[in-house]
Amino acid sequence: GLRLVPRADEPLKMKDFKTDQEVRWCPGCGDYAILAAFQSFLPELGVKRENVVMVSGIGCSSRFPYYVDTYGMHSIHGRAPAIATGLAASRPDLSVWVVTGDGDGLSIGGNHLIHALRRNVNIKILLFNNRIYGLTKGQYSPTSELGKVTKSTPMGSLDTPFNPVSLALGAEASFVARSVDSDRKHLQSVLREAADHQGSAFIEIYQNCPIFNDDAFAPLKEADRGTPGSGGLIRLQHGEPVRFGGGKGVRLNRYGTAEVVDVDEVGEDELLVHDVAVPDPSYAF
Ligand code: SF4
Ligand code: MG
Repeated sequence: GLRLVPRADEPLKMKDFKTDQEVRWCPGCGDYAILAAFQSFLPELGVKRENVVMVSGIGCSSRFPYYVDTYGMHSIHGRAPAIATGLAASRPDLSVWVVTGDGDGLSIGGNHLIHALRRNVNIKILLFNNRIYGLTKGQYSPTSELGKVTKSTPMGSLDTPFNPVSLALGAEASFVARSVDSDRKHLQSVLREAADHQGSAFIEIYQNCPIFNDDAFAPLKEADRGTPGSGGLIRLQHGEPVRFGGGKGVRLNRYGTAEVVDVDEVGEDELLVHDVAVPDPSYAF
């Protein structure tokens, strides 16, 4: 259909990044909040719509390109980082964003993801983590917790989950971050920093799937509550090891949550050897 195109000299607004497509996620899906946060961030990115490209794989999150009024490609299962790599390498003038999920990005496309990160291609990867396969109706994913009972694991999953942040750090990603669908302020601040970063940026976004894995992050949120600086919302970038005052450091526990620990009590190698910017405590859950 016809769309209003703003004049070249007119600043873009959030509505300029919405398409005429009907958004087809389940009611209450966390994807809506991420989409809204992203669309309202895009005007401040300051890049013309024709120079922004969304590349996705397959899954619920991968419907993103239909809803963001820029160029985009709903590509092949797990292969969005490879396609985005080709695009970013041949057109360095573009702002290239990959949208993927925990299944698409860490299982089917795990290989593509780690190599895009180690090559430090100038792409921004948003990995929506709902710890389940949503589109195919609820099978356990590479981030589902041990013992997770699903249709494909009726007696409970036997697999230890990936921690996407640890995986990205292990692949020597130059920008690693985690945020959450429900915290627009924090998510947008991370998007801004990712956009400014030259090279690959990896952002894990906790995303609620109310249909197949409702409140998967509730225990993490509960554990983090009221402990400023220990939130699951952390930002990591390459740099010097972090040290808090009073002999405190940060490590990721096995559930992927950052916890503040006494440096004396844990081995040096357990600490994140990356600069950790702990956001304002108001960002904590
Ligand atoms: Fe969202 Fe889950 Fe529905 Fe997919 S299945 S659209 S992730 S609520
Ligand atoms: Mg998923």
